[in-house]
Amino acid sequence: MKNIYIFDMDGTLTPSRRPMTENFELFFSSWAKRNLFFLVSGSNLEKIMEQVPKYIMDYSKGVFTCGGNQLWISDKLIYDHKFPPPQDLIDFLEEKLSLSKYPKRTGNHIEDRGSMLNFSIVGRNCSLEERLDYFHYDQKHNERTNIAQEIIYKWDNLDAVIGGQISIDITPKGMNKSQVLNEIKKYFPNEKYIFIGDRTVEGGNDYPLAELMLKTENCSVYQAGEPSAEDGYKATKQILLKLENE
Ligand SMILES: [Mg+2]
Repeated sequence: MKNIYIFDMDGTLTPSRRPMTENFELFFSSWAKRNLFFLVSGSNLEKIMEQVPKYIMDYSKGVFTCGGNQLWISDKLIYDHKFPPPQDLIDFLEEKLSLSKYPKRTGNHIEDRGSMLNFSIVGRNCSLEERLDYFHYDQKHNERTNIAQEIIYKWDNLDAVIGGQISIDITPKGMNKSQVLNEIKKYFPNEKYIFIGDRTVEGGNDYPLAELMLKTENCSVYQAGEPSAEDGYKATKQILLKLENE
């Protein structure tokens, strides 16, 4: 059996919302030539390309974007699952935006990504400094967790998980990263599947896939550093070195 690796991107291969570091690129580009892997990210293709060098993406067997709702192989879109957000959900999010006690709004709060809705109180137009400020606020007040739980409670058919440092990903149930395992098995059946992510714990956007894989034969899951730490990719490197020496 071959090892098929599955990587989250933000926090796992790159610092959050920033390009891969030079050091990690040096290590990962040579690793990528020797191994079979897929990427699975909450971001769309355009955003992934700002963070992962194109030649490294080209080494992969496929790139799952928008939380597993799209699959790209050799620059071709293989499938695209859509989610038109209901108006009462938009109204609910607008209300959260006006009621949150966090003082700053930078714009781009509700982003329709076709197959998922990305919601952020501080807004996706924030600077790196503002991003970290909100992240620390959220760690103290659990704002995102509370909003996500409220969404899950109010809408039977929706899932909401914390993604990255400032936002919540909202999708119909099952339209999350967990759908990629079966897709990957279509291309590589009966292998060993290894998933590495920085938010594999409950409530994180890697959790649906991690949870499924922990229940499935020949699968293993690794958490890259502390959840959403800036430097989870350093832990990823150690995990890959260790797996290669096994
Ligand atoms: Mg991540």
